[in-house]
Amino acid sequence: MARDSQEVVVYSVLRDSQCSQCQQELPGGSLLTMHEGQSLCLHCADMEHLTFLPAGNTALTRRARMHSKLWAVAVRFSRARKRYERQGLLVEEEALTLAQEKCLADENLRQGRRIQAAEHRKEEDRTLAETMRSKILEMFPACPRADAETIARHTSVRGSGRVGRSKSGRNLEEEALRLAVIAHIRHRHTRYDDLLLQGEDRAQSRRAVRDEIRNIMEKWMGKSAIIQ
Ligand SMILES: [Zn+2]
Repeated sequence: MARDSQEVVVYSVLRDSQCSQCQQELPGGSLLTMHEGQSLCLHCADMEHLTFLPAGNTALTRRARMHSKLWAVAVRFSRARKRYERQGLLVEEEALTLAQEKCLADENLRQGRRIQAAEHRKEEDRTLAETMRSKILEMFPACPRADAETIARHTSVRGSGRVGRSKSGRNLEEEALRLAVIAHIRHRHTRYDDLLLQGEDRAQSRRAVRDEIRNIMEKWMGKSAIIQ
């Protein structure tokens, strides 16, 4: 495997082995390092204070390595693939602790930001919906509160692409709101949806409920309103 020349490598042994210096038995799975062709246990290699960090968490690995004065790459030979494979790192205990703390702090920060952003969006949606509701009630003083509420909430939903989020909706142009009210009346207060379900085509159905919509709008606008 390709390796950085400065990297210290330790090997997870496949077969039972022995330290060439202290003669300690090293059962399969132990870590040893090679020095001038001789195997050394971690104690003899002055690396027994290092702690093993399994591969997998990139950010944690990067940080732990950065904070370790001495670190080593642990590899194991794969008989199946006929090559050494990286198992993880040996790093200093304090470096690992520091790295874990930093990663946790990062995660908390990210989570905090996510929550804040979500709250902010919700607040914006609420504000927009409230503004729209009062605008609708201004235009249609006799519109039931529940209907105004529903229209406002429906049209202000983020990412819906509905009129409330369009530029004109944001500016609360009356025409955009009027269209939203018409759409609401058509679906909630007329036979329009039933007609569609019965197989009528869209244009036909729209024509059929046009007067109904007009009557309801007239009622919602109040007695004094003049409908052209
Ligand atoms: Zn030894």
